[in-house]
Amino acid sequence: MNSDALRYRNDLEQAKALSEEREVKRVTEWLEKQEAEGSTGLRRQLLATSVRLSRKMAPDVYKLSDECVERLSMDTPLELYVFNSAQFNAMCFKPEEGRVFVMFSSSLLEGFNAKELQFVMGHEFGHHIYNHHEIPIGYLVKGRQRPDPKLALRLFAWSRNAEISADRAGAYCANDQYSVASALFKLSSGLTGDLVKFDLEEFLAQVSDMEVIDSEPNREGSQADWFSTHPFSPLRVKALQLFFASNLMDPAGTSVEEMDVGVQRLMSLMEPSYLDARSDAAIAMRNLLFAGGLVVADASSGISESEIEVFERFFEKGDVSDKLNVKRIREELPQRIERAREQATDIQCMQVMRDICVIAMAEGHVTVDEKNVLNGIADGLGISRTFISQTIAQDCEPD
Ligand SMILES: [Zn+2]
Repeated sequence: MNSDALRYRNDLEQAKALSEEREVKRVTEWLEKQEAEGSTGLRRQLLATSVRLSRKMAPDVYKLSDECVERLSMDTPLELYVFNSAQFNAMCFKPEEGRVFVMFSSSLLEGFNAKELQFVMGHEFGHHIYNHHEIPIGYLVKGRQRPDPKLALRLFAWSRNAEISADRAGAYCANDQYSVASALFKLSSGLTGDLVKFDLEEFLAQVSDMEVIDSEPNREGSQADWFSTHPFSPLRVKALQLFFASNLMDPAGTSVEEMDVGVQRLMSLMEPSYLDARSDAAIAMRNLLFAGGLVVADASSGISESEIEVFERFFEKGDVSDKLNVKRIREELPQRIERAREQATDIQCMQVMRDICVIAMAEGHVTVDEKNVLNGIADGLGISRTFISQTIAQDCEPD
């Protein structure tokens, strides 16, 4: 099978649209220039801090990676590295000198069985074959200049969808649902021993229970779990479950279209679709996002004229008609929080809270003053402050 067939459609479409954005093009061109001047030196840096695995040294690891390479029809030469770390981790970089570099932590290589390793390998290869590194998300959202908030939100949404594609490539290589789930469990929990036994059926039942709880109104629930960004997030597990039930993995399975409708429904939590919707809830969410984002931006060092322009462009569709007045918007923030709480569901409130965090993070780092504003908004919405800490701890770069 052509590995393109595995790719999640929204990842492909959003990557295409993003690569046409002026700001994305500008940063990509700048990076290409840096690379042409030889100033990234990634390979040298890797060699200094990691051990390159030769075929002679690690025949079993290469046997597993060869199988993945073949299954995904990859044709770029590969170099595998190991670095000393107790944390399970793997990463893949943009190719240099026509070679793909994939790195594994020592604990991961030793703690994962063959199929679990193939899931991790295939996941990293997936990032490579789908050119996820072509969109320099880290440079875009952590650069010196505050990016357009809408672009930041789109980049974060895309990066979640890119993980879905990479997971599918990994699952296709492992070709075993239990091993894929246990790999995600190991990555999240750090556990590999016999003390805790992973149970796939039980976990999938828990995910289904969460769906039931979330569809019932006014229930103290597990909604925040849906926004989890760790590997064992219910969204990723559910999306993989749909993948294994599709005809990509099971000849009698559902069509790819049907699977993608299901995945889209899941991932809609990650899409800033309320930015364009016309419902009362969407308008209330937008107004809160705008005020929250602006007040957070103003919190530490004051918002500059050029940053205000960015915000005005963001909301050009008429939600804000008069010239921006930060003081007035700060005064209105509590009303906007209340309005969102009335109009939007709990999970929608979390979504907009997450997006305000993304705008705060897009500036590079979140200061104490900014975090205080974020906590205040969370309190007003009845969202746990832990949700803020979890959201701003996440990394947007594909790994
Ligand atoms: Zn990844």
